[in-house]
Amino acid sequence: MSFEQLKSKVTDGSIDTVLVCFVDMQGRLMGKRFHGVNFVETSFEETHCCNYLLATDLEMATPDGYASTSWQSGYGDYVMKPDLTTIRPVPWLEGSAMVLCDILDHHNYQPIAHSPRAILKKQISLFEALGFEAKMATELEFFLFEKSFDDIRKDGFRHLEPISGYNEDYHIMQTTKEECVMRPIRNHLFAAGLPIENTKGEAEAGQEELNIRYSPALDCADYHSFAKHAIKEISWQHGRAATFLPKWDKDRAGSSSHVHQSLWKDGKPAFFDKSAKYGMSKLMGHYMAGLIKYAPDYTYFLAPYINSYKRFAKGTFAPTKTVWSVDNRTAGFRLCGEGTKGVRVECRISGSDINPYLAQAVMLAAGLKGIKDKLVLSPATTGDIYEDTKAADIPQTLRAATETLRNSSFLREALSDAVVDHYIRAAEWEQEEFDRVVTDWEIARGFERA
Ligand code: ADP
Repeated sequence: MSFEQLKSKVTDGSIDTVLVCFVDMQGRLMGKRFHGVNFVETSFEETHCCNYLLATDLEMATPDGYASTSWQSGYGDYVMKPDLTTIRPVPWLEGSAMVLCDILDHHNYQPIAHSPRAILKKQISLFEALGFEAKMATELEFFLFEKSFDDIRKDGFRHLEPISGYNEDYHIMQTTKEECVMRPIRNHLFAAGLPIENTKGEAEAGQEELNIRYSPALDCADYHSFAKHAIKEISWQHGRAATFLPKWDKDRAGSSSHVHQSLWKDGKPAFFDKSAKYGMSKLMGHYMAGLIKYAPDYTYFLAPYINSYKRFAKGTFAPTKTVWSVDNRTAGFRLCGEGTKGVRVECRISGSDINPYLAQAVMLAAGLKGIKDKLVLSPATTGDIYEDTKAADIPQTLRAATETLRNSSFLREALSDAVVDHYIRAAEWEQEEFDRVVTDWEIARGFERA
């Protein structure tokens, strides 16, 4: 929706509320609800938010140790600058539209370097400088539950019952039973302007997948954030809960967010060379070699929480090896669309809890490094890669991923020391919070028998 269209809808009264949002480190939409008239008259220029919002956690804590903000510095403001190209209706809420903002310094109006949207924009611009456009698609997997978030929370997150009783991978019969939630999700997102491809049942009871057509990287991350938010809200409106926690039950499959990637030049697929093996251009080989070489460095951005690492189990389609393969789902990276103009690489390491801006940005940085250093891609691997002892592993815990990130000269160069140190602090804090907790597992194991 253009700004002019929004203005006329505010004038005719069909829109009265504008959600002015930005995406935080955790990938959530944060912001304020403006009266439509105020937004189109003044607030479209800018509004403000407290700068702790880019230095907090899922609980909205105020951890120490961030250089960007603190109690000592008084937790000042950021400017939220609406990006008017992102205005869209919010069809599942009455009379509402939404706009996404960039986060700027309150004094000099420069982008805040550690804000996720700024991090992605920087990597996109480096490709643009070389004449390339990055196009991406992120798949959204999640579980739907019988009860609402509120009922589940009041029940202490126990007795979790997924919406279906059996593995519903590609099932039409079971997914028909879920159409009361999934159809509005598809249709509201489509009406909001997102190029929705499909939803399908996934390989576990209650597990769903939403696919959005690939698009320029920034749009893809904007779509992902908007869609994830919509899925939770629309489920809530129907008395259900949708979770993007990668692993909610140790005995069930986890949820991923695979990232499909390709580069384009002058509107043509730059990863495609019809005379080459798999139709894969030299450029694509270098890009993939960079992705694979630096996967351990950027794993934190594909798996940012303690729980993210519980998903990486053998025989579950969640890969842990930094190798590639042709149409094999056990490798960290899979070549898709081989021999066609749709040739692309899919990263399968990323979990459903990714921040799409950060995940895409670090992979673009790795791909760019591969191109600049002309890295050579090793041959494709075959067979069950879980059993391949020669293939390199990604870090297996948040603690290990944090240390790999800390020591990554590649990411320090690509993102800057300040940005890397900011996210290291986020990772450390997550670990510190977990380390303080006595878990149910410890009690059950040791209460009587220790
Ligand atoms: P699958 O069977 O693995 O789900 P799909 O053909 O449905 O594969 O495609 C998965 C995702 O890949 C879709 O979101 C699609 O839009 C995206 N995709 C297709 N072509 C490209 C491309 N050239 N670059 C990036 N993503 C692409």
